[in-house]
Amino acid sequence: MEEQPFWKQKTLNEMTNAEWESICDGCGLCCLNKLEEWESGDIYFTSIRCKLLDGESCQCSSYPNRWDFVPDCVQLTKQNVDEIPWLPPTCGYRLLNEGRDLYWWHPLVSGDPETVHIAGISARGRTIDETGIDVDNYEDYVVDWPLTVGDDAPKTPDEVGNR
Ligand code: SF4
Ligand code: SF4
Repeated sequence: MEEQPFWKQKTLNEMTNAEWESICDGCGLCCLNKLEEWESGDIYFTSIRCKLLDGESCQCSSYPNRWDFVPDCVQLTKQNVDEIPWLPPTCGYRLLNEGRDLYWWHPLVSGDPETVHIAGISARGRTIDETGIDVDNYEDYVVDWPLTVGDDAPKTPDEVGNR
């Protein structure tokens, strides 16, 4: 019988650091600025990306020393993954934490870091740099696509070619 991949054999807590890091699909959605409604605590995504996020690769341009530039960058850990309410529904950590599986476009499944972009899951090409945007104007940039990209995604790699 074929051996199950590590993310089906282990809980997030049981993963090595390298395995844990690889659960990130590279979508970049968590690096978008979010607004929290003061009274309700509701959180809204904006299309404004962190100044360190590359809008095309969706990678952090200074990941090892990001806190020198973005002191409030939230590190996702095994301890806090349960407590962060704004992880998008497609996030690999959220999926596994909820007992679900990774989708075909996850680089661990596809073997290709581009599939998260090809499937339309990532933030590639649809964000704006936060530099120069007044925080008071962030509400003009509220979007819901970070929460719905999974709904519209091709269900299989074959569906990509048919679009
Ligand atoms: S939302 Fe999740 S999968 Fe996407 S970049 Fe952030 S941590 Fe990685
Ligand atoms: S500092 Fe890097 S990891 Fe943190 S939100 Fe910005 S781009 Fe994302």
